[in-house]
Amino acid sequence: MTPDVRDRADSPAGAGRRPADGCPIPEPSWDRALRLIGRSDEVALACHVTPDADALGSMLAVAFVLRSLGKRVVASFGDRHFAVPRLLRFLPGQEMLVPPEEYPPAPELMIVFDCSTFERVGLLGANAASAREVIVVDHHPSNSGFGTLDLIDAKAAATAMLAEQLLYRLGGRLDRDIAICLYAGLVTDTGSFRYSSTTPAVHQMAARLVATGLRTDEIARELWDRSPFGYLKVLANALERVTLEGGLVWTYVSRVDRAAYGLPYSELEGVIDIVRRTDEAEVAVVLKEDDYGDWQVSTRSKGTIDVAAVCTALGGGGHHNAAGFTSYDTVEETMAKFRRELRKVS
Ligand code: AMP
Ligand code: MN
Ligand code: MN
Repeated sequence: MTPDVRDRADSPAGAGRRPADGCPIPEPSWDRALRLIGRSDEVALACHVTPDADALGSMLAVAFVLRSLGKRVVASFGDRHFAVPRLLRFLPGQEMLVPPEEYPPAPELMIVFDCSTFERVGLLGANAASAREVIVVDHHPSNSGFGTLDLIDAKAAATAMLAEQLLYRLGGRLDRDIAICLYAGLVTDTGSFRYSSTTPAVHQMAARLVATGLRTDEIARELWDRSPFGYLKVLANALERVTLEGGLVWTYVSRVDRAAYGLPYSELEGVIDIVRRTDEAEVAVVLKEDDYGDWQVSTRSKGTIDVAAVCTALGGGGHHNAAGFTSYDTVEETMAKFRRELRKVS
């Protein structure tokens, strides 16, 4: 049996009894969320397109909780080609996922996770537009709120922190499967507890999750320490043409590069973490061409430069030090636009 954290003196159980951890979301908003969930027999969950661990993990964790409360649950994300990235296939609860075409066209209640903008809901945006109620659960400072109810904490290190709050407020039980989903979100969005978003509350939450018996070593291996051989070759190509221009370091990975080794797009998540280590650069950029020929642009900043502002100006979003946007231009045009916007905030 796994330990039940609700039995611990420092982990109060039950709806409304969980300390807010400095969370700025007003109590009436949480109350309204509980009422909306309470009156719905079916709850439709969604997370952002090309989901990362925080998006998918937060959604699956809440899916488990709602199912344990006797709700019918559907969960999905609005990608044109619906597939869970190989990296995230270790997350439990994937049997609760349905492809977008099987999603209710007009849900009574929809909850969307980790979506900084309405566009990030992707194909399920049409379902959200027809839903009676939409609860937005998110932590992006650039999120101005697009739900009928917004549960947004721009200071939270991960959406998983808000998902955990929701769990306790719903009176749910933190079990090992749920903890794996939440931990995956927490550990990735904090860069393995390295980013400045890693507050005491982050470590306290991690302790609650680890206490359920999850294997942090196995999760770390799934997330960061494995890839197909072709990844090394594609990475070598990307690093071969990496460019340092003043305080900006950047490179790109095209579809053609990946096709030569049969490497799926989702395997490229870690490239930015290698490029951004460049001491001479304040800002790092990696352009990744997806299977449709669009460029998904990952950007990182080390200090005062706000890449979220740059990416928001280019139609994307994110956080001060980690942001992204989608570009339909060529690599050179995309970089020209990026440099222009970067100059405005540097
Ligand atoms: P990534 O570089 O994909 O790890 O993303 C870094 C941050 O930027 C995350 O918080 C994402 O939610 C955000 N982000 C990435 N791509 C986009 C996009 N196309 N539109 C809006 N936000 C994005
Ligand atoms: Mn995300
Ligand atoms: Mn997130």
